[in-house]
Amino acid sequence: MKALEWHGTKDIRVIERPVPKVTDPNDVVIKVTATAICGSDLHFYLNYTPGMQKGDVVGHEFMGIVEEVGESVKSVRIGDRIVASFDIGCSSCTYCSNHKLYSSCDNTNDSKKQEALYGHRSAGMFGYTHMTGGWDGGQAQYVRIPFADTNTLKVPDALPDKKALFLSDILPTGWHATEMGQVGEGQTVAIWGCGPVGMLAAQSAHYKKAGRIILIDQEDYRLSHAKKHMPYVETINIKNGTALSQLQQLVLNGPDCVIEAVGFHYAKNPLHKAQMLVGLETDPSEILNEMIMAVRKGGIVSIVGVYVGLTNGFNIGAFMEKGLRMAGGQTPVQRYWPTLLPLVEKGELDPSFVLTHEVPIDDGPKMYKVFNEKQDNCVKVILRP
Ligand code: NAD
Ligand code: ZN
Repeated sequence: MKALEWHGTKDIRVIERPVPKVTDPNDVVIKVTATAICGSDLHFYLNYTPGMQKGDVVGHEFMGIVEEVGESVKSVRIGDRIVASFDIGCSSCTYCSNHKLYSSCDNTNDSKKQEALYGHRSAGMFGYTHMTGGWDGGQAQYVRIPFADTNTLKVPDALPDKKALFLSDILPTGWHATEMGQVGEGQTVAIWGCGPVGMLAAQSAHYKKAGRIILIDQEDYRLSHAKKHMPYVETINIKNGTALSQLQQLVLNGPDCVIEAVGFHYAKNPLHKAQMLVGLETDPSEILNEMIMAVRKGGIVSIVGVYVGLTNGFNIGAFMEKGLRMAGGQTPVQRYWPTLLPLVEKGELDPSFVLTHEVPIDDGPKMYKVFNEKQDNCVKVILRP
């Protein structure tokens, strides 16, 4: 089969590999019909993510048709059309079963060494780093899915790929940002990052009847894309002044909730990026401090943009004195499926507007470059294996 492999900084290759097989009774193997490139993929593309190994199969947003089923799997059969969660839960550890925190599963990433190195350990994730278990990813013609009863969602044939696929990650993640931020009726929400995740956080906030939604980015074409499809949003381009100063003009006292949908790979000082991975020195996390300064007193800082390693220069004083709350995390995708699938089916949420490019998987390496460099007004890419 064909698969996209990581071979180093900005080096993604299409490689021929053996088709994976069911190796555990809880596995399924699917034939991938659609897979997307995510902002999270830029972390290893730029080689900022620890724990990558040459030859890793990448990709964590994918869907397809079930080809082979392990004997203990109950919820899906051969021929079913499914979407996978990017995070791999087991459903039986305390995090999965008691907290519905599938993205903190204790059984799918046993890398104690990573925990010792980085001070934390998340669940396993598809097609990411060995820091998250080193599971083969779905930017491939076939992929093996462990604990299939937990990590697959059957989707109706009538739901097109471009609506179903984004249930693997970015729609639940946009939703998760608003859940952590306790976004509700009439509230003002400011979102740093007008990528696919920021845009779907905006759509989720609108669904929850937020009063004002402000998207912040440095790319005019992304802000225009958002405005075209969500006329209710306001936009700020940080090329016209800092986000903080522009927000202070727009919102008296500051937003009720601020959402981080950018991630550490956009931090200004690339030296810091490399250093903070080994905890030697730190990135001043300018966006996080800006958010702490911008949010109203007593407000909530919600972080879905990915951060790795340590950061000093963090404004703990303002955080404490303003009485803020902060929440962050990889999204427990499976927790939100029962809520989000019906909303997508009814058309009350429609993530498909983020899609700008749909190409064969052979163009994967080229599309990583296009997506990273913001060429050709790219917002979201689907690869067809
Ligand atoms: P993306 O790279 O397409 O979008 C990020 C956007 O942030 C870009 O449009 C960029 O121009 C903008 N940006 C850069 N610097 C900025 C600044 N200083 N202020 C405001 N905007 C700025 O990525 P995406 O796919 O939308 O993902 C966004 C983040 O969410 C990434 O860090 C990704 O890893 C993370 N993510 C997290 C989860 C999760 O489970 N928590 C899931 C998916 C993605
Ligand atoms: Zn993703």
